[in-house]
Amino acid sequence: MIYPIVKYGDPVLETKAQPVTEFDTPDLHKLVEDMFETMYAAKGVGLAAPQIGIARRIAVIDISGGEGPPQKLVLINPEIVRNEGKQVTEEGCLSVPGFREPVRRGARVTVQAQNVKGEVFQAAGEELLARAFQHEIDHLNGRLYLNHLSALKRDLIRRRIRKLAKDGEWT
Ligand SMILES: [Zn+2]
Repeated sequence: MIYPIVKYGDPVLETKAQPVTEFDTPDLHKLVEDMFETMYAAKGVGLAAPQIGIARRIAVIDISGGEGPPQKLVLINPEIVRNEGKQVTEEGCLSVPGFREPVRRGARVTVQAQNVKGEVFQAAGEELLARAFQHEIDHLNGRLYLNHLSALKRDLIRRRIRKLAKDGEWT
């Protein structure tokens, strides 16, 4: 099932998501499957549960972007355990469509998370994957990439979104 993606302005995107405590349930398996389906349909490389209106600490990532073999990653209750170096690259978000801005992030990141069965694992990534880890975990903490921009730039984007909303083009 493909969920509609929640857009900037919905409070769920700025709410800290709750940890998952029950694992390996049919509901959790289905939700993770639906999140991948929703992410692929939107041509994204990552999706966090708050982006479909569910304030739980679940994110899915596939940086293959539909090219080559899938590299599916499910992160439940993820935490960053290591963050090294710096990268500045343009970043966008499925919840803030039509906007892209350079964002400063760590270059090499290791996360610790649980899988759908509740097993703890670590995953390390560089460049795009490191960026996806940080972007998605931000979502679970109620933060958007806009929070990393200068106040000036953020206000500019907010004003443009407010105008789009007023014109009925931000739903
Ligand atoms: Zn996002």
